[in-house]
Amino acid sequence: MRTRRLAPALGLLLTVGLVTAPDAGAAPTKVPVAIGYGGAVVSDTIESTQAGIDILKKGGTAADAAVAVAATLGVTDPYVAGLGGGGYFVHYDARSRKVSTIDGRETTPQAGSPTMFVDPATGQPHAFPTAVTSGLGVGVPGMLATWERALDRWGRFSLRDNLKPAINVAERGFTVDATFREQTRQNATRFAQFGATAELFLPGGRLPVVGSTLRNPDLADTYREIARHGTDAFYGGDIGDDVVAAVQEPPVAPGATIDPLPGLMTIDDLAGYRTIDRRPTHVSYRGYDVYGMAPSSSGGITVGESLNILERYRLSGMDRVQALHHYLEASRLAFADRGRYIGDSDYVDVPQRELLSDRFAKQRACEIDPDAAAPGAVPPGDVTAGGQCAPDTAATPGGSQGFHTNHFVVSDRWGNVVSYTNTIEQLGGSGIVVPGRGFLLNNELTDFNFAPTQGDAPDPNLAEPGKRPRSSMSPTIVLKHGKPFLAVGSPGGATIITTVLQILVNRIDLGMSLPDAIAAPRASQRNAATTQVEPAFLALPEADGLAALGHSFAIRDTSPLDPTIKISPDIGVASGLEFTKHGKVIAAGEPVRRGGSAAAVVHPAR
Ligand code: GLU
Repeated sequence: MRTRRLAPALGLLLTVGLVTAPDAGAAPTKVPVAIGYGGAVVSDTIESTQAGIDILKKGGTAADAAVAVAATLGVTDPYVAGLGGGGYFVHYDARSRKVSTIDGRETTPQAGSPTMFVDPATGQPHAFPTAVTSGLGVGVPGMLATWERALDRWGRFSLRDNLKPAINVAERGFTVDATFREQTRQNATRFAQFGATAELFLPGGRLPVVGSTLRNPDLADTYREIARHGTDAFYGGDIGDDVVAAVQEPPVAPGATIDPLPGLMTIDDLAGYRTIDRRPTHVSYRGYDVYGMAPSSSGGITVGESLNILERYRLSGMDRVQALHHYLEASRLAFADRGRYIGDSDYVDVPQRELLSDRFAKQRACEIDPDAAAPGAVPPGDVTAGGQCAPDTAATPGGSQGFHTNHFVVSDRWGNVVSYTNTIEQLGGSGIVVPGRGFLLNNELTDFNFAPTQGDAPDPNLAEPGKRPRSSMSPTIVLKHGKPFLAVGSPGGATIITTVLQILVNRIDLGMSLPDAIAAPRASQRNAATTQVEPAFLALPEADGLAALGHSFAIRDTSPLDPTIKISPDIGVASGLEFTKHGKVIAAGEPVRRGGSAAAVVHPAR
């Protein structure tokens, strides 16, 4: 049987029943752009993209393929996705020409409360890293229920069929690349705290070797059990029991140096989990119809409000410095409003119609000074003010930056499209692998504010029983004359919103191709004194002009969990599809960020 012994940090030694075997053969290379017909997939890994393409070739719909991609990402991209997490599924149905969404966000256990992240011993909120690596931060996972709902609505194949590719990859294993090893390095100290996590991801007590094969037979068995017994095996059955045990008493390894906070989830919370079919957010922008994710995500409203503000200016006629200045200032304003008004709309009254109205956009746009960046955080607008420039009230902080998630896109031969962002929150989630089950649990509840942030105004994002934490995920589908034009999205915590916005502006206003719009250097202004940028953004010819307008820039390259751990300063990992004439699709992902994306089409164009 598997035994484990924990030594400090990375020096740990583990005897394992898994995993890294010698080289399984040269891995095929990733291609960030593919052009063709008959369906397309862009996702983070080769195996997940291939799983989707295989299902499409067998006659599956975009929804079928999306489930196969997501399940396979649970194997090959386990630090950002999988059964232990949640996400948002946005779907365009070619027959009805309608965009619909499924909210598969994690929920707060019934025992949760607005003060659940306050340490009773001190009366102060728990430190963020303490809450992340704990049972307390684990939300009731919505992933599997999302897959089931998507297949009910738009699938041709069964869940069992769509899990097959993932089961094969989990059984056979996948080739560890430099990105996977690097992501493991960033998490090695906390993974070592949990026996099942270390067994799986620190084979032999070490970082997995690039070129070795990582197998996950526990996850293959978990998927098989779900394939045989249905989702009840998870939402109330054996798998659920194991999830609850791991949450309530995080399974630390002998000799662990942390004592994780226990979580509140019960089997009833799991049995009671429901996805929600939601109407998408909608704005029209320069003749396009932009559909996004409504609350519990703040993505659709914040991207939409920013676009409404920007539509008041002719960005394409401006010089690039001015265009980027307006992009940054619009998102600054929209983030102020996000902080004040957006939370789970089943719990708080979100003024969605007002926030997405042209009248409000006009009021907010008059706050932009073309000659100067705002010196810091701006106050939220007054949604009742009716087209006037708002009087100053207290400024609110913007969203924090999260790290990693994944976004993928799929289309099929019939013209259906899926834009699906899913996550376990931090890279590595809570760090807790459910023993014997092969997947990590999320830490999604740390997306709640731990204490009120809005001064005298109510904070819309405090935990309550059953409530979904506010997300930034922004899976987006853009139509032109009722037909798909773009599908796009990204990971990156609150930077997701600015990444999606920037790609739309790059593509629609600045005339870039979709691959260029994705590859371009990114900047993220989230109502803060400094704008977070990638190093390459500072090298752009516009950077000096923006600085002359008062913008100041910061590069983030350390982990939010441990400032001594270096991470990549990249912002987001986007993927997208663009639909051109005669059924042709351009499938585009990242050429470089996080090791690049894997794009593929069913029939490549010649
Ligand atoms: N939990 C984050 C959200 O829902 C996503 C995490 C990330 O992308 O880093 O907004």
